[in-house]
Amino acid sequence: MAELTMDKLVAFAKQRGFVYPGSEIYGGMANSWDYGPLGVELKNNIKAAWWKRFVTSRLDMVGIDAALVMNPKVWEASGHLATFTDPLVECKECHERFRADQIDLAKPCPHCGRKGTFTEAAAFNLMMKTFIGPKDDGSNVAYFRPETAQAIFVNFANVARTERLRLPFGIAQIGKAFRNEITPGNFIFRTREFEQMEIEYFIAPPKSDAAWQTTFEHWLSEMHAWCAEVGIDAKRLHDLDVPKDELAHYSKRTVDIEFDYPFGRKELYGLAYRTDFDLKSHAAASGKDLFYTDPDTKEKFIPHVIEPSLGVDRTFLAVLLSTYDEETVDGETRVVLRLPKHLAPVKVAVLPLSKKEELTNVSLPLAKELARMFRVDHNTSQSIGKRYRQQDEIGTPYCVTVDFDSLEDKKVTVRDRDAMTQERIAIADLPAYLAERFA
Ligand code: ATP
Repeated sequence: MAELTMDKLVAFAKQRGFVYPGSEIYGGMANSWDYGPLGVELKNNIKAAWWKRFVTSRLDMVGIDAALVMNPKVWEASGHLATFTDPLVECKECHERFRADQIDLAKPCPHCGRKGTFTEAAAFNLMMKTFIGPKDDGSNVAYFRPETAQAIFVNFANVARTERLRLPFGIAQIGKAFRNEITPGNFIFRTREFEQMEIEYFIAPPKSDAAWQTTFEHWLSEMHAWCAEVGIDAKRLHDLDVPKDELAHYSKRTVDIEFDYPFGRKELYGLAYRTDFDLKSHAAASGKDLFYTDPDTKEKFIPHVIEPSLGVDRTFLAVLLSTYDEETVDGETRVVLRLPKHLAPVKVAVLPLSKKEELTNVSLPLAKELARMFRVDHNTSQSIGKRYRQQDEIGTPYCVTVDFDSLEDKKVTVRDRDAMTQERIAIADLPAYLAERFA
C-alpha cells in the first residue's frame, strides 16, 4: 500500500465525513476539528466499547460523569495551578512560540529561519481559564479541567459510600479536557480541547513493591488488550518506561504506550502509579476525611491508585491509521477501512440494484427494520460497484443488495467487506444472520 501520510488521512477524513476542519466557513480556527456524521459514530462506538470493557463488564468498576468546571481549589490541591506547565520559548525576531522540549534550540527558528533568537525557557501554565458569572474582575476565575482524573478523586468519598465498594476497585470517567497547548498540531493528535477515558484504580497501601506492580502489570496488559480490540496495529505500539527523573511529581512509575504515527513515535496512552498523592492532597486541602475503612479489619487508610489514561481522539487517530488499507482489485485500487465490526460507523448498507420502485418497495422497509438493530445506510445512487467501494472506504462490514430476483425468491445478496464474498440469504433470516455476526 502507498504510504498513508497525514495529508492524505486528513483529506480522507474530511471527504468521507469523519472529521472536518473546525469553523471552516469562517476560515477555520487553528487546530480545531469537528467530528462529522461518520466520525461521531466511530467516536461513540469507541467510547461505548471502552465503557463496556472497563466498566459494565467488570464487578470492580463504576463510572461517574462530573462537571467540566470545578472549584478552583481542586486545581490548587492537585498541583495543577503551580506545576501543570510546559517550557515555553519565544523567537525574539518573529515572536513565534514553541515548546522548548519539542524543538532543537541550537537550530534556526522553524518559523522564520533565524539563528540564536530564542528567549530563555519559561514555565507556561496549560490551564484553560474562564470566568464564572457576570463579573470578570479576577474574583471569579475558574478553569476548564485539564484531565478527568481529579473529578474522580474529588468524588471518591461519595462513590465509596454510595456503592459500598471493597478495595481494590476503580472509578472511570469519559469526558472532555482542555489544555492551552503551546503547539497543538498533527490533526487530532494534539488539540486544546479533547476527550479522555480515565480510570483511577484504588488499592490498599502496598506493603511491598510487588503488591502495586502486579496491579500495574494487569492494567498494562488490559490496555494492550484494548488496543487489539479496537484494531490498533500491535507492531506500531511500544511501551516506554518513563525515566525516574522525568516522572511527574505524583508518579512512582509511568509507562507511556507509544504509537508510530506518520509524524513519529509519540504517546498514545499513559499508565501511572500515582501513590496516595491525590487523595492525600485533597484530604489535606479540603479538611475532609478521605479514608477508606476496611470492612473486615476496620483499619482506616488512604488508598493508593493506578491510573490508565486514554485519549479518545488519539484512539480515533490510531484506529484510522491502523485500519486504512488499499489493495488492487481487478486492476483498480480499492480503499478499505478494516475497522473491527463493532466500531464501524455504518454496520449494514442496504442497496437496491436500481432506483426502480419495485426494488425500493422491498429495500426501504428492510433498511428500516434493520435500523432498529444498528446503524444502516440505504443508498440508491450510482452503480452497485461504486456503492460497494464507498461502503468499503468507510468500513461498512456488510452490504445487502436487493435485486430483481429478490422479488421472486425473497432473498438478498450479502457481501462481506473483507473477503468480498457474496452469499444469498432469505430476507426473513437476515436479521438473525446479521445479529449473529455482530454479537
Ligand atoms: P503529551 O506528552 O503528548 O502532551 P501527556 O503526557 O501530557 O501527553 P496525559 O496528561 O498523560 O498526556 O494525558 C492522558 C492522555 O490524554 C494522553 O495519553 C493522550 O491520549 C490524551 N491527551 C493528552 N493531551 C492531549 C491533547 N492535547 N490532545 C489530544 N489528546 C491528548
